[in-house]
Amino acid sequence: MARNKKKIVILGGGFAGLECTRKLEQYFKDNSEIEIVLVSEDNFLLFTPMLPQVASGMIETRHIVMPIRTITKQVIFYEGRVKNIDPYGKIVNLWGSGSKRGVSLHYDFLVVALGSETNFFGMNDLEKNAYQMKTLNDAVMVRNRIIDMLEQAENETNPILKKSLLTFVIVGGGFAGIETAGEIMDLLLDVRKYYPNIKREDVRVIVLEALPNILPGFTESLAGFAQEKLTHHGIEIKLQTAVTSFDGDEVMIKKLDVDKDMTNGSAISSIQSKTVIWTAGVTPVNTIKRSLFKTDKGKIIVDQNLEVIDFPGVFAIGDCALFLDPKTMKPYAPTAQIAEAQAKVAANNLHAIIRNKEKTKFVYESKGQMAIIGKRTGIASFLGMNIHGILAWILWRNLYLSKIPTWDKRLRVFLDWTIDILFDRDISRLKFMRREPEKEYKVLDEVDDVW
Ligand SMILES: Cc1cc2nc3c(=O)[nH]c(=O)nc-3n(C[C@H](O)[C@H](O)[C@H](O)COP(=O)(O)OP(=O)(O)OC[C@H]3O[C@@H](n4cnc5c(N)ncnc54)[C@H](O)[C@@H]3O)c2cc1C
Repeated sequence: MARNKKKIVILGGGFAGLECTRKLEQYFKDNSEIEIVLVSEDNFLLFTPMLPQVASGMIETRHIVMPIRTITKQVIFYEGRVKNIDPYGKIVNLWGSGSKRGVSLHYDFLVVALGSETNFFGMNDLEKNAYQMKTLNDAVMVRNRIIDMLEQAENETNPILKKSLLTFVIVGGGFAGIETAGEIMDLLLDVRKYYPNIKREDVRVIVLEALPNILPGFTESLAGFAQEKLTHHGIEIKLQTAVTSFDGDEVMIKKLDVDKDMTNGSAISSIQSKTVIWTAGVTPVNTIKRSLFKTDKGKIIVDQNLEVIDFPGVFAIGDCALFLDPKTMKPYAPTAQIAEAQAKVAANNLHAIIRNKEKTKFVYESKGQMAIIGKRTGIASFLGMNIHGILAWILWRNLYLSKIPTWDKRLRVFLDWTIDILFDRDISRLKFMRREPEKEYKVLDEVDDVW
């Protein structure tokens, strides 16, 4: 009978949640005693490594999302937003809204993989005025913003205003920031020919990074190569520079390496820009921060088996889980690679619990890292080798193409890349609205799916 089934509920349809679901499907294939339920706000997996290429219009929006129902086989999927988790009663509540019933789901085992959102470190003006690069919506907004700025600048007669319209500031010199800066510059240079009043020197793309180097995680020489290439490409990189505010017209910045006696110049200055893209960090979503689980800096603390402290049978994986790298005793970087590795171990351990076997500890061996830093150039540390230039770019494209879970989307992305070589970018601006602050859903009705 359905009620005697053991129910595994997975929260989050990102890299971690989906990989865990797929592994569980394999472990419990054709097993009628196990029910696997997946809950996610969106009904698709977003392939984030290609998000900057959507922002630059190289890849079509829908080509980097894979509908969950086309990837999973025997899962019960709920498209819904998790409201809260009651780990004592073993219940997950989903928000209801005007057109959606609230739902309560009972579970026997739980996997929390709710990922993260942009961290503005409490700077409200930036949260209000800056663009982000975290969701598909963000990428589409950024693309439209760039086109809009070009349209306005083309006919602008005030040279100061024109300059500020054409200055794009990216905050954060990590993967997302650097790849976004490279893609934006490529877009601007590609489409400039349609805007005869915009000169090459009018366009500025600036990366602000608080650390002394970009792309932490890469070797010094690869990060140095990337910086050199980006600078050669016209991207300005300001290291040890922190943003203190942005009111929509002016970015206030603070140099962090200025001598106390100011012999090195003033610590505070500003950049006139109408577009700031914030990629300087992520933090777990509020559902996690407000949960009853033990957290540190908002992330759920897990043991060596990725099980949540005090709650056996509950696992936390991916960006929302806190697991320290035993070598550095610092948390692992929030990457898709780690999220997927953790997903495999969590699925294995759930299988072990249900089959009374021994659980496995999470041990992570990095397969390498790579980043695209502009047209036909990239950097990669892969299988112990450090590669840069076109070879790294080819490697990136091959590897990430192979990681897209469905063949149709792989082909579509491949065709987008090919078309981009043959034709100019599309400069039509689609009018979408900016993302609204988090909605407070109204609970219409709550039903327990058990009954
Ligand atoms: C621009 C960019 C480029 C990147 N490039 C790389 C790269 O090249 N290589 C790499 O390894 N990593 C990269 N990353 C990082 C990578 O995307 C993340 O580390 C990875 O997505 C984490 O996986 P996750 O499953 O923990 O979280 P996510 O993939 O964020 O998934 C979380 C899921 O939970 C859902 N969710 C959240 N809150 C709720 C809620 N309340 N109710 C229901 N559902 C909810 C979300 O909709 C989402 O589907 C990049 C990230 C960005 C933003």
